[in-house]
Amino acid sequence: MEAVCGQQYRALALDAGLCTLLAVLLSALLKLSLERIRRWRARVPVLVVGSGPVGLTAALVAVRSGKVLKLTLLDARYRSALLRRPQQIALDPRSVRFLLELGVDFDNMEGCWSNEHFYTRIGVFQEHLLSILEQKKQTLDIRLQLGTRFSEEYLRKMSRADRPRVIVVADGSCGDSCSVLGISSDYIVESCHAYGANATIERLDQRQVPTPEIRAHSVFFDLSAYGIDTLKESRRSSQAAAAKPGFHLKIYGTFRNRYMALVCGSDADSKMMQFLRHTANASIMKNIFHQSFNAYKTDLEPRLSELTLHNMQCSRRLFEILLSYRRVNAAFIEGDRIAVTVEGEAARVLNFDTGCGVNLGMRGLESLGMFIYRTATALDQNEVFEALSAKMQHSRHVAETFRRSGLTSAMFE
Ligand SMILES: Cc1cc2nc3c(=O)[nH]c(=O)nc-3n(C[C@H](O)[C@H](O)[C@H](O)COP(=O)(O)OP(=O)(O)OC[C@H]3O[C@@H](n4cnc5c(N)ncnc54)[C@H](O)[C@@H]3O)c2cc1C
Repeated sequence: MEAVCGQQYRALALDAGLCTLLAVLLSALLKLSLERIRRWRARVPVLVVGSGPVGLTAALVAVRSGKVLKLTLLDARYRSALLRRPQQIALDPRSVRFLLELGVDFDNMEGCWSNEHFYTRIGVFQEHLLSILEQKKQTLDIRLQLGTRFSEEYLRKMSRADRPRVIVVADGSCGDSCSVLGISSDYIVESCHAYGANATIERLDQRQVPTPEIRAHSVFFDLSAYGIDTLKESRRSSQAAAAKPGFHLKIYGTFRNRYMALVCGSDADSKMMQFLRHTANASIMKNIFHQSFNAYKTDLEPRLSELTLHNMQCSRRLFEILLSYRRVNAAFIEGDRIAVTVEGEAARVLNFDTGCGVNLGMRGLESLGMFIYRTATALDQNEVFEALSAKMQHSRHVAETFRRSGLTSAMFE
């Protein structure tokens, strides 16, 4: 009799245990599903300040994140001024892949391909991205406010309901939106261990068609007239070609707005480099760019002559190439609970134009989708801080990677 009772108790205890386990499992499952639904439904209003190539791409990333309730895109310039910008941009293969995923259709954009890079006018690129955003208006609340400056007044006039939860500042190297938001304008300035010089040639008689860049390596100049025996040096350097490969030259831009960049590594500690770094005679650099342009230009474009040389402006001497990046490039505005990230040239900029500056901005945007997702789905302020911290880390990584290898791919290869 006792044995039967014992068996019944054990069976009852087992049943009760199983029921509790099932209840715990069900409740965990329910919690998980509710959390999934909450994350799936989470949407935030996003404001992008600046409709340059980086701001417009940021807007597409925001749309793609699926976490935008309302997207507002601002630019101080009116549409016509925005689309008239003449400079060319060079999108490298990684930026091209990134943009393809966002729906950019390179087949329907005026431009040209060379060596897996896509070259187009900045205005053409911006127009294409604006047209994609306009199409997206059918399914998402997107407001394009061109000719509108982001300022304290703009923020003040915004109703509480309209306040964004995420602001992407992409107002370029001269923008002041960060100071409007109270973000420190401290920059960290670091050497890229290279020296360079830039030149621009403006020829209004030429066409504004996208043109592939021209690169030349191991370039040496005859400076014997200034007492520098470069011939002997170039022979020595070519024996140790890997260590001292001379100068790297790039000619880029459209035929109307031609640009040149000249660069050498700081390990190329040659007499020629020392001389060009310290010379007070600005005509030497002008002469170097003049000769280089005529030697390496395409056959289609006219040579620079003594008569047309006034179309060219250039650096007076070689200077150290420095990368400046914001110490604070992501912040939380307590009162309004807005998470801010700074992108493109507003976040990091070189004192030297390599002809593919836009790619540095695109690298920064690679973590923007996740940042918006994490901010939109954050349960509390701590989770927003974690998203901001990850964004800052990625931004640092972008700057560090550029310092280590950015010039190599932009100029040395
Ligand atoms: C002369 C020159 C030649 C270049 N050539 C090349 C090249 O050949 N290849 C290449 O890849 N790159 C080139 N670049 C670099 C390229 O133009 C930049 O890398 C790129 O434009 C940076 O994009 P961004 O969106 O960060 O900034 P920007 O293009 O500067 O855009 C910032 C936008 O923010 C807006 N803005 C500023 N303040 C406010 C505000 N308060 N409120 C609202 N809007 C605001 C501005 O009107 C602007 O439209 C060149 C640059 C220059 C100057």
